[in-house]
Amino acid sequence: MNKILVTTHPACRGHLTGPGHPECPARMDAINAGMTSHGLWERVDREEAPDALPDQLARAHDSAYVEEILQLDGREKRLDADTVVSPGSVAAALRSAGGVIRGVDAVLSGSHRHAASLGRPPGHHARPANAMGFCLFNNVAVGAAHAMAVHGVERVLIIDIDVHHGNGTQDIFYSSSPVFFFSVHQSPLYPGTGFMDETGDGDGQGFTLNLPFPAGMGDPEYLAMTERLLLPLVDRARPALVMVSAGFDAHEWDPLGGMKISTAGYARMFRLLIRKLEAVGIPGVLVLEGGYSLEALRECAPAMIEAALHPEKEDDATKPAPPRKEAAALIDAVARLPWGA
Ligand SMILES: [Zn+2]
Repeated sequence: MNKILVTTHPACRGHLTGPGHPECPARMDAINAGMTSHGLWERVDREEAPDALPDQLARAHDSAYVEEILQLDGREKRLDADTVVSPGSVAAALRSAGGVIRGVDAVLSGSHRHAASLGRPPGHHARPANAMGFCLFNNVAVGAAHAMAVHGVERVLIIDIDVHHGNGTQDIFYSSSPVFFFSVHQSPLYPGTGFMDETGDGDGQGFTLNLPFPAGMGDPEYLAMTERLLLPLVDRARPALVMVSAGFDAHEWDPLGGMKISTAGYARMFRLLIRKLEAVGIPGVLVLEGGYSLEALRECAPAMIEAALHPEKEDDATKPAPPRKEAAALIDAVARLPWGA
């Protein structure tokens, strides 16, 4: 048995979004090629993602919405300006969510220390009752809800590092405290939410945290964010499971995002997080979200898996530059919010 379970499925290629759409089947090919060239498939346990079941999806979505999407199987439909369904899309979406559920089962049953789900379509914009922003089902939210419903987990921490705000995940858990949601993202940018004053509602007050970064932030800012917010949050939120909405569209090569994280910066961020999880004995489930530079995906998805396999690997000796003042001020402001109050 290997330390990490990686789930994916060939059906995830079958979600066809049309010519020129950045969320394309070639993303799966790029990741697969990178995993192969880095010799990673031999060093992880690889499984085909199962189908998510309607009842599992309905823990995060309205059951009428789940039914509406399932009815589109084999058909074509445009759901919003940039979210389309092709005949293979529902099959892809079921595998994409099912892979996360399988990963949650693996780490919570103790068969694996960590898991990663490398499927598409992504999920973090999908809201309780509507598809949005390339996303049909909210894979990470379905996984978190599964952890609580089936494994009795009392607290899940979801960390969303995609360059876009994870508005769907935030909406699904906005009024509840069992899921602590943290998102760092570029602002202003699609979908136009994720401001610092969005901190949860009712029982969920203090269990949502948003760090809106201006465009142009890179390794120094993201590493400072990791050390000052993410790592303390793992202690503060006291989760039994940490899930990461792993978007690679904050990479310097990404055509949609305006951030500057390098491949080495992503690797270092994941190593810091995984080291922390292992120090406190919490499993991690890493869930692919966005990332639209095929070249960046080919390097960064394997770098994430490598970091989970070998978090102890030394960081390069060069001390990262200090974060820009504006970013440091934003990080300080989020650090002062009443987390989990
Ligand atoms: Zn994104």
